[in-house]
Amino acid sequence: MFSEFHIIGGGMAGLTVAYALANGERTIHLWEKEKLPCMFSSSKNAAIFRTYESDPTLSMLVKESYKQLGELEKKAGTLLDRCGLLINPLEQDYYENAYIKNNPEMTELRSVGQTIHLPEGLDFSGYFLSANGIVDIHSLQNYYIRTASMQGAVFHYNHEINMNIEDGAVQLSNGNSGNIKMSANSLIINAAGSWAVNLLKASHVWTPPVEPYKRHLFFIRSRDKKTGHVKKNNVQWPVLWNEKRDFYLRSEGDGFLGTHCDQRETHAGDYVSDEKEFHRFLPSAISVFPFLKDYHIARYWACLRTFSLDQIPVIGFDPFIKNLFWVSGLGGRGITISPGLIPEIQRLVSSNSSETNVSLKNNPYSPIRFIHL
Ligand SMILES: Cc1cc2nc3c(=O)[nH]c(=O)nc-3n(C[C@H](O)[C@H](O)[C@H](O)COP(=O)(O)OP(=O)(O)OC[C@H]3O[C@@H](n4cnc5c(N)ncnc54)[C@H](O)[C@@H]3O)c2cc1C
Repeated sequence: MFSEFHIIGGGMAGLTVAYALANGERTIHLWEKEKLPCMFSSSKNAAIFRTYESDPTLSMLVKESYKQLGELEKKAGTLLDRCGLLINPLEQDYYENAYIKNNPEMTELRSVGQTIHLPEGLDFSGYFLSANGIVDIHSLQNYYIRTASMQGAVFHYNHEINMNIEDGAVQLSNGNSGNIKMSANSLIINAAGSWAVNLLKASHVWTPPVEPYKRHLFFIRSRDKKTGHVKKNNVQWPVLWNEKRDFYLRSEGDGFLGTHCDQRETHAGDYVSDEKEFHRFLPSAISVFPFLKDYHIARYWACLRTFSLDQIPVIGFDPFIKNLFWVSGLGGRGITISPGLIPEIQRLVSSNSSETNVSLKNNPYSPIRFIHL
């Protein structure tokens, strides 16, 4: 039984693990290389909470996540602006009705066909999910940190961790103080986002296939032609997601946040924004939503989504290294699935069984699925 946990990474994944495991009895250390948590993908994302998925595993996870978010809100206060999501999907969520039928408390996640009227005579039609919306990510992250700290978890910032393999187990070190002292009952949790695989590269051991992909987000506004002042955006629309045209848009302050869903494979930590995408964005935005023709890009940035080969998160014990557990590959859904991962992480870490004995039915996120390929 593990009693000491070293979590590498203070993004959404690492904070979720710290919250899930801290119980006042366990020794928990979270190591983050930056001076603050969530400096990368976990603060540079669109924060959309979406429960409509075509993949069965993800479909069930996001619905469970909604239930868990409700539990968190009972303690932390409102964490989700339920402004709704109107989606024109590429593929059906075939599991929607079956899952909701077995979980009557989730009826508010049932989608209904709807059309909204936008400026320039445009109608946007799709499935409306009234209980979806935008997560207050800072409140959620702060709640995880505060609660885990009160339960004894220790957060170490400015500590870049290295992993070495010694006798089939991970040994941690950091540049400042050399090897980190760990008890024999320590479990290392790799929650290092796009850096997760790099951490083991020097050891030449097997790692699950997880790769970062770059995507840009754009904050757009419009100005009054006469006064030059920024026009107030008084719309109260749901998140608009046109998957067929690969574009989503949501209200943000006095403008909108959107992306044309660009995607390019890259390397860990590559947050450099690409001017090419700047030039692509507005033409794409206007072709989907013509009323954006008077908008300009006020700010844009690049962010990484780290995907496994099958786009399902990788969560579970490493099949070869006895004290290593992966919480990685959260892809483009790390914010939505975080609450749903809390009970999964608690269950899987306590199962304590070697991943080679785990059936994929018991753990659909297990890294072992890539060895069976
Ligand atoms: C454009 C875009 C939009 C998105 N929109 C949404 C959305 O609307 N809804 C949604 O649910 N999800 C969204 N996502 C996905 C979501 O942002 C990610 O899934 C999530 O943030 C990943 O969290 P993470 O903790 O795995 O990674 P990260 O946030 O990258 O955290 C990893 C942490 O590990 C630390 N670290 C790395 N190496 C080391 C080391 N050696 N030692 C110590 N610390 C280390 C890093 O400094 C970092 O803080 C979006 C992503 C992008 C790119």
